[in-house]
Amino acid sequence: MNQTAHLFRVQKLDLELDHNHKRIQEINRILESDQTIQKARSRLQTAKFDVQKAHQKLREIEETARSVQTKMEISENKLYGGKIKNPKELQDIQNEIAALKRRLSNVEDEQLDAMVDLENNDQILKKAEANLSESQADFAQRSAGLLGEKGQLEKINDRLSTERAAAIGFLPDDSLQLYQSLRSKKNGRAMALIDDQCCGACGTSLRPAELQSAHTSKITFCPTCGRILYAG
Ligand SMILES: [Zn+2]
Repeated sequence: MNQTAHLFRVQKLDLELDHNHKRIQEINRILESDQTIQKARSRLQTAKFDVQKAHQKLREIEETARSVQTKMEISENKLYGGKIKNPKELQDIQNEIAALKRRLSNVEDEQLDAMVDLENNDQILKKAEANLSESQADFAQRSAGLLGEKGQLEKINDRLSTERAAAIGFLPDDSLQLYQSLRSKKNGRAMALIDDQCCGACGTSLRPAELQSAHTSKITFCPTCGRILYAG
């Protein structure tokens, strides 16, 4: 194997490593940002907030009902206590009690509505809790596949890295440096395979001298894209 063959082998390993590394990063992104769980969490939060609000509203209405009842008791005590004899004053108290009764009836209607509202919100909360558990279980299942794939890719990359370390052992430092610097400039591909007398990367037709040079172990560059030519 001449040095361009070794370089081409290193490039093949590097491209495979790049590809696997990209997929590992993609898997990490998926694992970190699962939309379904985020949406389920947000729905649960809203449902919790709505239940709290409904509870609060019901408590306020109950408080109002108690206050109206207390006022009625006071008025009734006055009415039947026997201390007040003045008919006009007694009539006023009777009117007041009648008004309080109407008020209480309204408040009780509101209380009923608030209880129904709370019950509905409780149902929504229970559904949201179940939905989050389901999403989490589903995600765990999906993640198992992704985590398995990630582990597999990491194992493959370990093997490829070992092969790469062995392959670069055949190369002089300056060739390897040239390869690395070209690789960073040429989108990961420092080498081009000659295909039907053309550069396999950019398609430029190669002159006989370039073809001949590439067939020896000499490093030959494509005159157009500047990659190292490999005769194959
Ligand atoms: Zn080229």
